[in-house]
Amino acid sequence: VKANGYGHGSVMVARAALAAGAHQLAVATVDEGIYLRAAGIREPILVMGPIGDAECFAAVNSDLELTVTTVEEVNTVSAVTRVGPNARVHLKIDTGMRRYGCDPEQAVALAREIASNPRLTVAGTFTHLACADDPDSAVSEHQASQFNRVIEALRAVNLSTGLLHMANSAATLGSARYHYDAVRVGIALYGLQPDPTKGLPAGLAPALELRSKVSRVSTLSKGSGVSYGWTYRAMGEERIGLIPIGYGDGYPRALSSRGVMSILGYRVPVRGRVCMDQTVVGLPSETNISVGDDVVIVGDGNTAPSFDEIAVGLGTLSYELVTSIAKRVPRDYLRKGTIVAVEDLSGLHEFD
Ligand SMILES: *Cc1c(COP(=O)(O)O)cnc(C)c1O
Repeated sequence: VKANGYGHGSVMVARAALAAGAHQLAVATVDEGIYLRAAGIREPILVMGPIGDAECFAAVNSDLELTVTTVEEVNTVSAVTRVGPNARVHLKIDTGMRRYGCDPEQAVALAREIASNPRLTVAGTFTHLACADDPDSAVSEHQASQFNRVIEALRAVNLSTGLLHMANSAATLGSARYHYDAVRVGIALYGLQPDPTKGLPAGLAPALELRSKVSRVSTLSKGSGVSYGWTYRAMGEERIGLIPIGYGDGYPRALSSRGVMSILGYRVPVRGRVCMDQTVVGLPSETNISVGDDVVIVGDGNTAPSFDEIAVGLGTLSYELVTSIAKRVPRDYLRKGTIVAVEDLSGLHEFD
């Protein structure tokens, strides 16, 4: 549920995941974990990324599980446990991602260091795959064998590994041999595909729709321009609609004169530049679309484009699009068609 639950709102997503059987949550930063604690979430939370010395105390004090990769990091956590509560840590092994983690050869020494402090518990040992979305890649196999060697080395000297985990969404969907004791499912939790060029596996549907309402309808005369720079000019008389969403909300400016939205089942094209707060669309002449009509900006790919479709068009991933949805966009949470909570700039409000 890192990055505000991939833009969906981490508190409500965390609650839904826990209610559905998840036994633990994972975030990228200490702040993200503390935010969940402040919302009353008591289940284990792992911080997967590097932790600054200054935030280590707050992290341990908030009962977050920390990732460690060096003796220095273990020492920092140890120092905190001398004046604060005991800590649970996960040993992260770099088996080939070359991002965060300790070299496999150093894993035993690091685990010894942790085991030498009775106030520290190894809650887990994990690694992260670099090429999980390519089932034909030999890289994942190589990383798994490196990981298995580390596990055997730790067991050979009776050092505990805790929970073993490796798989992101792609590996979880790809093969059970990467599942170990737990999986760290991110993007698939939201009904989005790790690789936007592939279809969704059966049973998965996007959880989020981005919606708005038409806030002005007007008519362009032939030749008149729209929005900053007049990059679009009407070929003839054309009705246009104003949609109060822009790049300040996370609707990419790169969709200027390229994007499409859905109104009353019609696919309507973006006309001219996407602004910070507003975007203009062209309205087909045969429609009677008017102010107040619902707009689906991003949907399931049937009438409104899906995040995956937009991502492919822009050469990016749904990950980047959903995590860019701004805080000022209110999130309405529906259960069986009824709004049960709203999170907006004033906070999370629940109705049940
Ligand atoms: C983000 C992340 C995940 C989840 O990845 P998805 O592709 O969204 O499933 C898993 N593990 C780590 C270490 C991550 O940073």
